[in-house]
Order: sequence, then C-alpha cells, then structure tokens
Amino acid sequence: MALENVNILIVEDEQRLAEILKKQLEDSGFNAEIANDGYVGKLLLEKNTYNLIILDINLPLINGYDLCKDIRKTNSKIPIIMLTAFGTLDNKIVGFDAGADDYIVKPFDFRELLARVNVFLRRTETKRATEKLRIADLEMDLSTKTVVRANHKIELTAKEYLLLETFLKNKEKILTREFILEQVWGFDFDPSTNIIDVYVNYLRKKIDKDYDPKLIRTKFGFGFYCSEKEV
Ligand code: CA
Repeated sequence: MALENVNILIVEDEQRLAEILKKQLEDSGFNAEIANDGYVGKLLLEKNTYNLIILDINLPLINGYDLCKDIRKTNSKIPIIMLTAFGTLDNKIVGFDAGADDYIVKPFDFRELLARVNVFLRRTETKRATEKLRIADLEMDLSTKTVVRANHKIELTAKEYLLLETFLKNKEKILTREFILEQVWGFDFDPSTNIIDVYVNYLRKKIDKDYDPKLIRTKFGFGFYCSEKEV
C-alpha cells in the first residue's frame, strides 16, 4: 500500500498523547494530523480527506460520541477507532452505536493500535477490487462498498459491512465466534462478549428483517452462517 497517501486524523485533547501518536504514526509511514478538541476535529474533517480517524471520547466542545455520529451522517465508510479510559462493554456498545468501528482502552500499547490501523487500511485497500458478492437478491459491490437487496440500497456502517462481507465470502459455512472476531474486529477481542450478537442483530435488521429468504442464520452452539436455506 502507498503509505504516503494515507492520512490519519487524531482527535485527542491530551496533547502529549496526541503528539506521541502523531510521531509514531509518521514513523510508521502515515501522514497524521491532530485536532485538540471535537470542534477543530469537525472543521478539519470538513476541510480535508482522511483515511482513518482516531477519536478520543472525552473531548472539549464536541465529545467523541457526538462527533462520531456527526461524521456518520455524511461518511459511513471511514474507519473510526475510539480511544477511551472507559473499558466496559456498555461503553463499547455506546461507541459502536455512535458508529465507531473499533475501540481501544487507555493506556494501550501503540503496537496494538498500529495493528488495528493496519487491519482497517488493508481492508480498505483490498476492497478496491472490482468484485461483487451475491446471495439470493442481495449484492455487495466491493469497489463501491455498496449493498443492495431487492433493488433497495442498504446503508451499513463499516463494521456491519465487514461482517456481511465475511458472511458472503464464506457462504454456507458455519462461522465460529472466534473466526468472526478475527475477521471483523481483527484483534484479540474477548470472545465471551456479546458484541457479535449485537452486530448480527444490527445486520439482520438491515438486510433480513424486511426481506425473504432470511440470509444470516444461527447454528446454535456453533456460530452463524449465511445461506438462502437452512443447512
Ligand atoms: Ca480526553
């Protein structure tokens, strides 16, 4: 990947942490810019194009959740990694509800953040292939990152999109929770969390609730699979 073209926005009010992140991202070959509060973050996002956002939650002027929701109104695809001192699952779900793709709890090891950044950027890159994935009347276009079911365009968050892509690339196979976590969240999420159930529900509401046949199915005790009929 041409790293020199990758622009990352860091929205973080702890100046020292922001500077360290910027330097480490630059040392890893990315361009990085800092916004020290949510309002400056919003202005920079309106002005410039970024490939990924690292977003703190407790921020002056506009907090991370609100900024995240605001970004998602106009850009459903840009990966957003939230940084926070709070690590409970409830907080994570609030973050994911706001439209974050990933979540890192402070203090964190920079290598962990970098690994996640790379997972998102690599996926963005591979999705440029002009490929389409289909099942029944649903079609995913990997180049435009759009999903259509029965001629209706379906808006998915980046995480929901990745989850659906994982299902479509593994049609009619039972996918374990561990496999889904690794493919979609890309790192060592605790498999005992219910994050997968939460996201499978989000996805079902969007692609299955109003349509038939149902495509995302549960194999109790094993995991999930994507199929037009029960296997
Ligand atoms: Ca903060």
